[in-house]
Amino acid sequence: MKKLFALLIAALLWATAPAHTFAQDKDALTASIEQYYSSLPQAKRDYKSRLRPILIQGAMNIETDALVRSLKKPVVYRYDNYLFVAGTYRNYPIVISRTEQGLANTAASTILAIEKFNPIAVINQGTAGGSDPAVHVGDIVIGEKSIPSSAFYTNQSPAGAGVDYTDQEMRGVYAYDRVDETFKRRGEFFADRTLLELAKRVAASEKEFTVATGTIASADWWMSWVDYINFLRERYGITASEMETVSAAQICHNANIPFIGIRVISDNDINDEDYRFDVSDRSQKFALLLAERYIIDVLRK
Ligand code: SAH
Repeated sequence: MKKLFALLIAALLWATAPAHTFAQDKDALTASIEQYYSSLPQAKRDYKSRLRPILIQGAMNIETDALVRSLKKPVVYRYDNYLFVAGTYRNYPIVISRTEQGLANTAASTILAIEKFNPIAVINQGTAGGSDPAVHVGDIVIGEKSIPSSAFYTNQSPAGAGVDYTDQEMRGVYAYDRVDETFKRRGEFFADRTLLELAKRVAASEKEFTVATGTIASADWWMSWVDYINFLRERYGITASEMETVSAAQICHNANIPFIGIRVISDNDINDEDYRFDVSDRSQKFALLLAERYIIDVLRK
């Protein structure tokens, strides 16, 4: 009866809804996901698990929703306003984390996740802009490495001389160096070899995905200058650009936790392909297939 009533209300809402723009649809969807998260059991005490969970991260509601819905026995944890949902998948503990957008939020929520959930491996996934004409909206990019694309040096140039954006060199970010036991500059972070291998196997066996392996560039910018995107690709060999991967990679590198970034292309200015948020399901699905393989081939071996 309850279900029928809900269905009736949904049908009524749908029938009477005004014509939406794309952005409004996304806002409505985001709000409904928020409601769903609030409707789940909320944790009263810290997480405890005999097995170390796999952590799968996404920045926004639309990048975490499908993952959360695939969990059994989901429980919501909130730390400093960052959201985590812990549950199981294929009888193995998984934590889905909504990092929020950008480098600082991602670093903060990654370190919180490490402290609170002690993950055995981290998969960061979500949407990204294509930085190569060969990748199209809906394609998956496996990040064999990620770079901090706004962490560069420039040479001095005098006032009025204008700016030559190619006059830059990678400076990198400070990351823990296990040999020297200190923080040193690092301009790239590599995916864990096992996770990378398994991701390639998922790509080979799941024909529904068009997959490229490449470099993910992260910075707190939405870069639409095609000349600059092309320059970054030529200089650093990037395939996709977004705002989170390198930050989570850096924190996992510091903590010595296996990490990989997986992205779905949501827009590509080089090819005039406009942003489509609805592809975000694809990277979630790919990440879950990867987690499943990791559980079966590595954690249960
Ligand atoms: N703020 C937009 C949607 C977010 S786009 C809106 O409200 O409609 C920014 C997010 O998507 C970031 O988390 C980033 O990782 C990802 N992203 C997708 N395409 C991107 C691009 N071309 N450049 C930068 N970030 C991109």
